[in-house]
Amino acid sequence: MNGHFASVGDESTKADYEHGVQVIDEDKEFNPKINAYLQATNVADAGFNYHLISVFGSQSTGKSTLLNNLFGTDFNVMSETERRQTTKGIWMSKNKKGSMADNILVMDVEGTDGRERGEDQDFERKSALFALATSEVLIVNIWEHQVGLYQGANMGLLKTVFEVNMMLFLKDKQSNPRSLLFFVIRDHIGHTPLSNLRNTLIQDLAKIWSSISKPPGLENSRIEDYFDFAFSALPHKILQPEQFVAEVGKLGQRFVTASRSGKPQGEHGDHEFDGGILLPEYHRRIPADGFSIYTEGVWDQIVNNKDLDLPTQQELLAQFRCDEIARECLVAFDEVISPLEEKQAESARVGKPFVLPKLGATGSAAREKCLKNFETSASRYHKGVYKRKHTELETKLDQRLKALYHGQLSAAHKSGVATFSEAVSGAVKAGQKSGGSYEFAEIVDTEKQKTLEFFKKEAQSLAIANVPWTNFKAQFLLFGKELDEVSARLRKDEMRRLATRVERWVRSRLGDAVGLEFNKLGSGRGGSGAPETGEKPATEKDLWDRIWNVFITIVGEAEGRFADRAKSFEASQDEVDVGLWRLRRKSWVALREKIEEEVMEGNILLKLRENFEDKFRYDEAGVPRIWRPADDIEGIYTKARESTLTLIPLLSRFRLAATYAAPDLPDFVGHQPRGVEAGDEDDLTPIGGVDEEDGKSLEEEMTVLSEGKRQDLVVRFKKTADGVYVEAKRSAIGGVAQ
Ligand code: GDP
Ligand code: MG
Repeated sequence: MNGHFASVGDESTKADYEHGVQVIDEDKEFNPKINAYLQATNVADAGFNYHLISVFGSQSTGKSTLLNNLFGTDFNVMSETERRQTTKGIWMSKNKKGSMADNILVMDVEGTDGRERGEDQDFERKSALFALATSEVLIVNIWEHQVGLYQGANMGLLKTVFEVNMMLFLKDKQSNPRSLLFFVIRDHIGHTPLSNLRNTLIQDLAKIWSSISKPPGLENSRIEDYFDFAFSALPHKILQPEQFVAEVGKLGQRFVTASRSGKPQGEHGDHEFDGGILLPEYHRRIPADGFSIYTEGVWDQIVNNKDLDLPTQQELLAQFRCDEIARECLVAFDEVISPLEEKQAESARVGKPFVLPKLGATGSAAREKCLKNFETSASRYHKGVYKRKHTELETKLDQRLKALYHGQLSAAHKSGVATFSEAVSGAVKAGQKSGGSYEFAEIVDTEKQKTLEFFKKEAQSLAIANVPWTNFKAQFLLFGKELDEVSARLRKDEMRRLATRVERWVRSRLGDAVGLEFNKLGSGRGGSGAPETGEKPATEKDLWDRIWNVFITIVGEAEGRFADRAKSFEASQDEVDVGLWRLRRKSWVALREKIEEEVMEGNILLKLRENFEDKFRYDEAGVPRIWRPADDIEGIYTKARESTLTLIPLLSRFRLAATYAAPDLPDFVGHQPRGVEAGDEDDLTPIGGVDEEDGKSLEEEMTVLSEGKRQDLVVRFKKTADGVYVEAKRSAIGGVAQ
């Protein structure tokens, strides 16, 4: 089998169409394979560039023979010896002769036998209606000797044609096109010139026209309102075979397209004798690719005796074909778009936003191609239906693209935000590595512009001219807003980093400065006070004043650094206020920790011992004492011990000398600023007297040594002092012994 023209479920080959295709069989069934035939003969894609011609006439009047000679078709012809009807139903074949209009389709209609009426008349009427509904030219095949026989079978046929045409016209007053009745007079002997035969026929036609009943409003209509006429005569095929062939050749030349202006009509609507006959106005305007469906629908109406309403048929056809064409266009669109949709869904599923490369160009090209293809084929159909279906298709395409584009922008949004955060963090890190000199605000600004540009470019690449939904300005603005929010978060992180650095600095400075103050305790002779008078040395009495002052100075300096730096990266006043508030609190906590470290048992005991020893072992001039037995070791011991013991209550509480009260810590820390947000306080240690709800008083906050610890310290210190004393005593005796 030749598989070239074969397709699934249709095994027809070109050879099967040798005799054309039977459109309607003898059981009045429509052949579903008409479209396959049109495809096999390359007519299906011709749009409107095809022509349909039907032949009418009594049985066995040489119709099939005429068509075969005229168009090179191969319709069955009655053999000269059998003389029985051969053409059953309606056959169709494509013109095989050159130098005629493109894509001429010829329908060979089963004729009626003039001698037998009845059942046949039904088919005659139906086939006439079918031919009129579809054909541009109706060839009426007639013997010369039948001309003027008004009562002849052909006249009955013409009457039927006129009546059914009136029916069609009633349903379709706007667009029912004219048709050409082309009379081909056979066995023309030549005695009567064609013009005479034509006049006779025209008179007969007028008579028939006047005899048919016309619907109201059309009583005065003339036959020329609906039909054009053309005439031709052929010699006897058997008796004058050569002339017959020559005349058929001439007749064939008339099957070319023409325009009415170039071919003035005759008095009775007949054509110039040898002009082209295929006027555009005869065309039924059914696109070739809808021909089979349309004719099937038309035949279905006819065969079921329904009112044939061609406009309705054309609308139904348009709906069917537009849907079909749209589906075909969507297949190509799908091929491009589906893989992209899948890729996007996949990356969304795994949570990795992926910006599809060149999506805008791909999407709009696929959209345009699909719509263009649809427009090319579908615009040939019923305008209203076409427009509606065009909108439907556009909506369908746009729904798909819309989802895809929104996904794309969401991916661009997510990856843009991620890129932005990473770029800023990366630049900050690089800045830190290269010595910490970087401008945070500048980094944010540069990266923001870059990221906005990236998003803008993507959004603009998705825009399609005159398609409003492809304007993504709102998404762009939203993206800008999100970047601002991310910037704010990054700035907050940067603030935290700055705060950590500053806090570390405070801690280190406090460590040195406070350590120094406590170390001074180790010397019992600092300041101007004399131990003898019982007056505490200034260095001891105002220990807390000095610590507080040093603390305030360090924190003040730190605040200045913090605020300057924070302002440099465009932190708001609120943010700065919160940072400073946190800094003061954290600094206080750091101070407390440092003090606690200093008063840890071992440390403070050592300091007290040093203090005591200094007072005990050195005289007022700072000269070490060499104990002699006569010395008042006990008196000096007691004095020094008591002097050092006074330090313990002093150390127990953070109190300023002048007021003998705690420093105004709440005032120093200040009220919680209004910029504090959730999370800002989470890492803060509660401070007594500042955070009232904590239940801890300022007094408690300022307690350095608890009562218990204090007593314990006294006992331990005394023991240590006692040890020193005993040692001194021994050394005094030992010194004498030496
Ligand atoms: P159809 O039934 O109208 O299609 O007629 P056919 O084409 O089958 O021809 C019927 C018979 O008429 C055949 O035997 C042909 O040979 C014969 N025939 C065909 N053309 C002519 C013609 O021009 N003149 C005459 N007298 N006979 C013809
Ligand atoms: Mg025939």
